[in-house]
Amino acid sequence: MTAGGTPAEVRSACPYCGTGCGLLLRPDGQGGLEVRGDPDHPANRGRLCSKGLALGETLGQEGRLLAPQVNGRDTGWDRALDLVAARFRQAVEQHGPDSVGFYLSGQMLSEDYYVANKLMKGFIGSANIDTNSRLCMASTVAGHKRAFGTDTVPGTYEDLDEAGLIVLVGSNLAWCHPVLHQRILAARAARGTKLVVIDPRRTATCDQADMHLKLQAGSDVALFNRLLAALYEGGALDADYLRHVEGLGAALEAAFAADAAVTGLEATEIAEFCDLWMRTGKVVTIFSQGVNQSSSGTDKVNAILNCHLATGRIGKPGCGPFSVTGQPNAMGGREVGGLANMLACHMDLENARHRAAVQDFWGAPAMPDRAGLKAVDLFRAAGDGRLKALWIIHTNPAVTMPEADAVSAAIKACDFTVVSDITAATDTARLADVLLPAAAWAEKDGTVTNSDRTISRQRAVLPPPGQARPDWDILADVGRRMGWAAAFDYQSPAQIFREHAALSGLAGRFGLDFDISGLSGLSDAGYDGLAPVRWPVSRSRRGGRFFADGRFYHPDGKARMLPVRCQPPAAAPDRKFPFRLNTGRIRDQWHTMTRTAQSPRLSGHLGEPFADIHPDDAADLGVQPADLLRLRSPHGQAILRARITADVQPGDLFVPIHWTGETAPSARIASLVAAAADPVSGQPESKASVAAAERFQASWYGFAVSCRPMAPGTTPGTDYWALARTQTGYRAELAGAAPLRDPEAAARQLFALPDAAIQMMTDSRKGIARVALHQSGRLAAALFIAPQPIAVRRSYLAGLPGTCTSGVLTGQPPEDLPDAGPLVCACFNVGANTILRAIETGRLLSAADVGAALQAGTGCGSCRSEIAALLARRRCRPAAE
Ligand code: SF4
Repeated sequence: MTAGGTPAEVRSACPYCGTGCGLLLRPDGQGGLEVRGDPDHPANRGRLCSKGLALGETLGQEGRLLAPQVNGRDTGWDRALDLVAARFRQAVEQHGPDSVGFYLSGQMLSEDYYVANKLMKGFIGSANIDTNSRLCMASTVAGHKRAFGTDTVPGTYEDLDEAGLIVLVGSNLAWCHPVLHQRILAARAARGTKLVVIDPRRTATCDQADMHLKLQAGSDVALFNRLLAALYEGGALDADYLRHVEGLGAALEAAFAADAAVTGLEATEIAEFCDLWMRTGKVVTIFSQGVNQSSSGTDKVNAILNCHLATGRIGKPGCGPFSVTGQPNAMGGREVGGLANMLACHMDLENARHRAAVQDFWGAPAMPDRAGLKAVDLFRAAGDGRLKALWIIHTNPAVTMPEADAVSAAIKACDFTVVSDITAATDTARLADVLLPAAAWAEKDGTVTNSDRTISRQRAVLPPPGQARPDWDILADVGRRMGWAAAFDYQSPAQIFREHAALSGLAGRFGLDFDISGLSGLSDAGYDGLAPVRWPVSRSRRGGRFFADGRFYHPDGKARMLPVRCQPPAAAPDRKFPFRLNTGRIRDQWHTMTRTAQSPRLSGHLGEPFADIHPDDAADLGVQPADLLRLRSPHGQAILRARITADVQPGDLFVPIHWTGETAPSARIASLVAAAADPVSGQPESKASVAAAERFQASWYGFAVSCRPMAPGTTPGTDYWALARTQTGYRAELAGAAPLRDPEAAARQLFALPDAAIQMMTDSRKGIARVALHQSGRLAAALFIAPQPIAVRRSYLAGLPGTCTSGVLTGQPPEDLPDAGPLVCACFNVGANTILRAIETGRLLSAADVGAALQAGTGCGSCRSEIAALLARRRCRPAAE
């Protein structure tokens, strides 16, 4: 408490992307939190993006899992955990340790991850423990290990401030790591940093770049091979640094054999890029999912690393290859060894000395000597009966794994599935035999590591609801019940952290990079007060820069350049499936939306799932703006809203990953994605599947608003629906192929309001119906039906439920009430129409003018490209409009 009686602010870290922004949290006394950026955190220096700023809106207890459940019925912890321990033990005794598996998440804290890894690898004796980080950055891990001998991220965020050129490969940083993007733009404004984006799709990140190389999907290796050849031809190789590197000759041979034409780029564009790279001494290459999520992702990573190693642009300020992680603790998972092919603390499963050291440290009865099943194979094993027991923690593979329908069936088919989560309302939780209620962000203590190796504390500031417990506590309890009481006798996350730090000292003694043994003596108070710290933190070394001295982690101390050749994506478009399907994130949602969908502000940006399609392809298919598209692949199908845009190339589609069975069942896009994995990293290719597309022949479209939750899935004949939160309740988009005969009955079923007073307007000849339901003189809900996509003012209508209005059926605001339009700036809640009006009346010419007039774009800045598009729209508007 402060002297004035208000609770003091508590330092913590954001639970979303790998930027790892620091937060200041203050409980509001009513179960909520005030959230602001921590000005002292080195990752964000007080900045937050729209998602971080809205964290306080996502803490609702609605849908929280409050008690353990067995077969859908609430029970106590003893019964649930006895059952989990017994079923896992039984499977191991009857079928061996490889008959069980854990599937974890980059959302877990390092302490949780550490206990899970110790339980599976050290005591159960299997390496069948993998994580959704396999879908995120496994190719980077594999590429780092091939080049450096260990999984070391050499870059730091300070390098972004000093670089002369930043190359972004397969990364929409403006939307996916907005605070990092703003940091780059600030450096650009101050120092003129050049910015190049390499991406098949035009994204918000391209707007402020000097160059956008819109290459063909999967051709990154050809581009970086051409760069390596050009660097050689231009005499830009660093002979001195190359004394620390093996493999130059073979890498160059592969580079000169490459055909850059497969990139689809003009030779002049490639030459300009190579020339810029060569002329700039300080180059940082940031890469992300566009590189990793590929059937040749590891080769793509090594193609990038080759160029940095050959020119010595690594290990120096302002230089280096830099993988940015998608999740808040993907790095922590790598550190504790939470992937099927890792041991712990960057030690190797296949290395007998490493294994023996860890086994001795843990006092473990059994250790696997080979990699376990990686994510794709883990779920295949669940489906074909090889896995008898599976524990899924804080992730939703029934939505996110490629071939998601098959994965869903595999989870269902597994003899015994346990799910730990904060809610029972996920596609995966609905398939569990045992559900375990876990503490959520802001209710639990631990550490996370961000993309630049900075370890930060997440701190508990709210009590967990019901019987929810932290994951480390649940996992350790199961370990004890399985018979390993001493090894899992943990009382606090601080104790686990100290053990992990001490174990890392062994890695340090083996000469490995990950060593935080300097923190192994932290007291509980020291752990509580731990400030952000970048590893290594050994007894002799704190922070610092890797590879400046040219010392790498292969046995000979040298790095490796790899001869890499461009491989096309696993599947090629053909007559049956002519489109290339790319998937990714949008600005204001996080993964499967369990948290962000609770925020009306975040849901206001893009309120329904969509497929971006090029105008030429839309014309060929007869698709008009706001039509629905049906997509098919060999593995599944989807229905989504069409967005016609030249941001994607002809023949390409882009679809976001976030929607689920809870929010838009026809838009679970991973059900279309093939489980084609990189042979080295095991990471699936989520950016380049194949699909067919056609206009969805809807006979009716619907738009609904309501104070209360709706049940669009129960409305007969609804083939498409998407649900989103609003400030007053909910909104939904609907459509169906079969005619909707009785709109009034549909409205009553959708809203479950049998006694509400009905106000209705219909034109049955035109197929139009508008239905409003009132209770106690206030609008409870409204439904608009038409044979074409519904043309009403959605943001205006979304504000009406709960008000005393009778004019809802016009679908338009009164003339004297301006409609803000779709949300653009989530930080300051500014809609598109408000911005357009301000541009018009205030004669605004730039995003800076708009910011000065409305604040829009002055928060996290990730809406600036949309503001620029609105400015351009006004500039291009015909005089007569
Ligand atoms: S950039 Fe946004 S989502 Fe990422 S850590 Fe920072 S506040 Fe969170």
